[in-house]
Amino acid sequence: MKKPVLLICLAALTVLALAALAAFVWPGFLLPPSEDGAAPALPPEDGGLQVWFIDVGQGDSTLLSDGTHTVLIDAGDRDHGIKEYSQLHSVCPEDHIDILIITHDHADHTGGLTKILKECTADVIYAPSYDGENLSGMAGLLEEQRRRGAAVVIPEVNETVELGDIRLLLHCMAGAKNENDGCIITRAQYGSTVFLFMADAGTDGELDYLLHSGQTDPDCDVLRVSHHGSDTSTTQKFLNGVKPEYAVISAGKDNQYGLPDAVIVTRLAAAGCNPWITGQFGTILAVSDGTHVSLRTSLAEAPELAECSYIGNKNTHKLHDKECPSVTQMKEGNKVPFNSIEEARSQGYDLCTNCLGGQ
Ligand SMILES: [Zn+2]
Ligand SMILES: [Zn+2]
Repeated sequence: MKKPVLLICLAALTVLALAALAAFVWPGFLLPPSEDGAAPALPPEDGGLQVWFIDVGQGDSTLLSDGTHTVLIDAGDRDHGIKEYSQLHSVCPEDHIDILIITHDHADHTGGLTKILKECTADVIYAPSYDGENLSGMAGLLEEQRRRGAAVVIPEVNETVELGDIRLLLHCMAGAKNENDGCIITRAQYGSTVFLFMADAGTDGELDYLLHSGQTDPDCDVLRVSHHGSDTSTTQKFLNGVKPEYAVISAGKDNQYGLPDAVIVTRLAAAGCNPWITGQFGTILAVSDGTHVSLRTSLAEAPELAECSYIGNKNTHKLHDKECPSVTQMKEGNKVPFNSIEEARSQGYDLCTNCLGGQ
């Protein structure tokens, strides 16, 4: 009787050792790319909520799935939307979307919809109203969806939607002066984790979210940075309000607009969340277990995040640890990020007496 027990113990130990080795060699941070280079599907035991920031070039498309329910926010442009989306069919079984959110009628968000909606059915489509029109440029497409049984809905003020364990809040600025400010901002809560998708909201739109979305605790774990990281939004005030742990920017590699804007990348780095950019990382997957969120890329090797541990003041030529209280009082335009003290010193910066023990 003893021998089989010993063998089982040995086998179990071997499995444990191999698992430990695998975890070391292949940390959960990265997923291996599949042979055709497509974004890999997660092994089912990962469970939880998966949020796919799909690399659609210069555009925006995000897919949320808890394994049972699927929410699609925008569909990229005409050329990239369907290609990337079709790689994710395993997360969108039977080509069925529970909720489609069309944030606003700009081609880099809606161009891919025509093809996607030919292949997929959506139960509910949320689309904003602008100047009393419900996405006038897409009237034909939405009408066809209605005929196929989808409900096309203009969201109520701060409409909430429960989808299994996913709780959505849809926020639209009333009286917005342009389509970007009037877009649908989506807050998705799963357990205690919060994802905030800002679409292309400008400074007015994001301030309106802070003031009027009815959140007593506006913190988020993952911020999908507004407007592809353009300097038309993501103000310091907004970042102070939503305090993201991670930031994701959807912007095409080498795009003609030079996005994301360096000012925004610096501002995010100074706030402690170096952005993950689709143009750099490819499709990005965030996984929430209801308590914690982790981010991964489908690339074999994750590029370096723009690191920033120190902030220099361009005016006074003093260098501070990024956590130093002086940094919060510093004018945005005066902040210069540094990775190391040596780098700052070589550019003539002196160390702050409070945080870095300077003279
Ligand atoms: Zn856009
Ligand atoms: Zn836009």
